[in-house]
Amino acid sequence: MTWTITIAAQKLDFPAKCACCLAASDGSLKCSASVSKGKRVVRTTTKSWDVPYCCRCLAHRRQHVGAGGWFQAAFGVGGGVALGGILIDKGPVLLLVGLAIATLALARAFALRNAARAAMSRDCAVPGSAASYLGWHGSEQSFAFARQDYLASFRDLNGRKRQSAVGRGRRIRG
Ligand SMILES: [Zn+2]
Ligand SMILES: [Zn+2]
Repeated sequence: MTWTITIAAQKLDFPAKCACCLAASDGSLKCSASVSKGKRVVRTTTKSWDVPYCCRCLAHRRQHVGAGGWFQAAFGVGGGVALGGILIDKGPVLLLVGLAIATLALARAFALRNAARAAMSRDCAVPGSAASYLGWHGSEQSFAFARQDYLASFRDLNGRKRQSAVGRGRRIRG
């Protein structure tokens, strides 16, 4: 569950606090979004914002995102190779290799996910990303935050700009 908001602005201020644990920020996370336009010639525009974070939370977030990559590898690479072994005649070796890859990748994914959880402080909101740039429409910028109190500070800081009401969004992936 996240809290979402849209603000009409080209320039935004972010609270100098970590978006995950609210401690004083000593780092930042680049949150970007891309929009693709055109059918024959596709032009992709990417915009990003630096959201303040503390180093501790940047570290556990990196581990959590890394775990996601290993989960994908387990199912994508390991699963794909194993499936290849099932589909071709006399492919038991391939099947075993695929299962071995999947097992190793899953072990790595769970280890990283547990490490991310263990590295969280009591004040942390989520093991993964606590802020996400959802994209823009003209000058309107949309964000999702894991913390309602962080969003409240963000709204205060940008109080002069036109803002939407706070909405509810899905959990941030990664
Ligand atoms: Zn933090
Ligand atoms: Zn944290």
